[in-house]
Amino acid sequence: MLRFRKFESLGLRLAGITEGADGDFAREGRPADDALELAGLARGAAYTIKQVHGTRVWPVGKGGPQCSGPEEGDGLVTDCELVAIGVRVADCVPVYLFDAERRAGGIAHAGRQGTHDGVTTAAAQMMQLRYGTRPCDLHALIGPSAGPCCYQVSEQLAADFIVRGLPALGRYLDLWEANSLQLEQFGVPRAQIEIAGICTICSGGRFHSFRATGTQERNLAVISL
Ligand SMILES: [Zn+2]
Repeated sequence: MLRFRKFESLGLRLAGITEGADGDFAREGRPADDALELAGLARGAAYTIKQVHGTRVWPVGKGGPQCSGPEEGDGLVTDCELVAIGVRVADCVPVYLFDAERRAGGIAHAGRQGTHDGVTTAAAQMMQLRYGTRPCDLHALIGPSAGPCCYQVSEQLAADFIVRGLPALGRYLDLWEANSLQLEQFGVPRAQIEIAGICTICSGGRFHSFRATGTQERNLAVISL
């Protein structure tokens, strides 16, 4: 598991992502709480949700996601200590959010569609709504995912992205910068947005990558207060 120590040092118990060697964390794969054990932490509550490339975000309490509709979504937020929340990714961007002032965290699953539709902003908004998070107190980490070096899409998809004011170079989308921009537009200071800068597609197999191998296996990106 790759831990983001600098981000954790803001006051988090865990911010990390499992690696290929850690196994498959797809829905049918290992349970999410295995990731806590991989991080050397005590096993405990770890929640994920059925991801649908949308923008719905749910708060998570001690008993799990507090969904008022179908248990589907692409972002989770929590203010519960020791509760872990995670998203499954294999090239999609995991965006980690943390507010040290209000002691609240969040995680978003931001692939091309989710980024285009603003799932990261939706997660930040949910933290604001539920926990009183101020944008200026929010810290973000853009996790390992499809990098601008490798993430080529069709002309139409690139055009759709550019129309939204999101960054692309020709047919190569920059999901890292796109999510950073959205957070900045929300009011998060640029200095509080860290980009891990690790491309899963050209990571040489370090992470599960759909683009690299067509795998159905997933890495679990996880955060815990
Ligand atoms: Zn790459």
